[in-house]
Amino acid sequence: DYRSGGYHPVKTGEVYYGRYLILQKIGFGYFSTVWLCNDLNSNLKVALKIQKSDRNYTDAAMDEIEIVSKIHRNYTHPKWSFGEKTHIVKVLNHFMHKGPFGRHVCMAFELLGCNMISLMKFYDFKGIPVKISVEILKQSLIALDYLHRICGVIHTDIKPENILFSLNEEQEKEVEKTGKIENWIPMIEERTLRWPTEEEIAQQEMEKNNKKCKNTKRAMKKERENKRKCERMQRRGIVKVIVPIENVVRKFDVNFQVKIVDFGNACWMHKHFSNEIQTLHYRSPEVILGIPYNQTADCWSLGCVFYELLVGCYLFDPKSGNNNNAEFELLCQICEIFGDSCFFWGLKGRNASKYLTSGGRLRATHLVPRSLKKEFESRGISPVDSPYIEEFLLKLIAPNPQHRITAFECLSNPFFRRYFN
Ligand code: ATP
Ligand code: MG
Ligand code: MG
Repeated sequence: DYRSGGYHPVKTGEVYYGRYLILQKIGFGYFSTVWLCNDLNSNLKVALKIQKSDRNYTDAAMDEIEIVSKIHRNYTHPKWSFGEKTHIVKVLNHFMHKGPFGRHVCMAFELLGCNMISLMKFYDFKGIPVKISVEILKQSLIALDYLHRICGVIHTDIKPENILFSLNEEQEKEVEKTGKIENWIPMIEERTLRWPTEEEIAQQEMEKNNKKCKNTKRAMKKERENKRKCERMQRRGIVKVIVPIENVVRKFDVNFQVKIVDFGNACWMHKHFSNEIQTLHYRSPEVILGIPYNQTADCWSLGCVFYELLVGCYLFDPKSGNNNNAEFELLCQICEIFGDSCFFWGLKGRNASKYLTSGGRLRATHLVPRSLKKEFESRGISPVDSPYIEEFLLKLIAPNPQHRITAFECLSNPFFRRYFN
């Protein structure tokens, strides 16, 4: 792809825009190559994304710059309670660079660590411990909630390659010292990698109640405060469930952070740029059937990612070849979970007649029913955990986008409360 309209040939030691010294290649995608740079002005390390030069890539990069810079400013929005913790990558600068294969948009981003593919690889594609997977899911949902509810943006390309770890202080120092970046994987204590049993929950409740009796005055004061806070929020039009979200975040001491990158395909909720969105494995059924998509298309993709983190392989793995066939196979695989009438809502879709009978059934024959719960258990997830995980995942990948859970609803779901207690 190093040709006219394609990637720009980058060499280490080159300086871009008079300030970005190229140190090492750290990633690439279909649209770009990404480089570790020393910013000679600030003496900080940054990630420089150098886009292919063809017109469409340039346009995509301009949209990416507009969207990423706009969304960053929204963290002061009154409905957003996590401040700068939006779990979205920060863009620092952008400029054009003229090379032998054309003019390339270049974007400087804050430097992040490895993506979720590296994490899965580290676990030999046998599945990542539940607690890590759930934490990654939770942080990604915070990012989606911010994008959807606060910014009105749909990412449209949620996949493991586009979810990255932040660097912690120690790692930042290491990059500073060596000028190199490694694939750091966070180590997390696995002691609490299971759901509490019913007895343990009862025990916890009892202890909590006992404490409450001791501190009745304090507890009552706190409850009054909470109630007032709830009422204030309701008056401002914020639904009551916002309180538990904050609790969830406070309860769990996070020792790693992930962020969402790659807004090259993102769009506004009220202004879509394309009907064909999402990478095939993470593509939602409404997009295939040709029904207008909304922000829950991202929830679908994130559900697929969550399964992949837990189990180590794709949730849906339609075989490629002719693209249409692959999309049909994807619909078949969805029906193996939800049954062949799960697309009745899609009859009006642009492509519905290609895939559905007039009665709304998928035109498929050999469907083998799947149980996600069993698949989790065969990967070593405890039968105590598996039903909760399955239940939550099925909400994220509800075939009908109208019934699919939103990121905001996800965050106040008992799933997280139960898990992080
Ligand atoms: P795609 O093919 O998914 O559209 P793309 O060409 O738009 O990819 P990105 O996804 O933005 O490019 O970046 C490609 C890869 O580079 C990422 O998967 C990630 O591994 C790495 N990368 C991107 N941004 C950063 C960053 N800020 N810090 C460190 N690495 C990054
Ligand atoms: Mg990408
Ligand atoms: Mg991209």
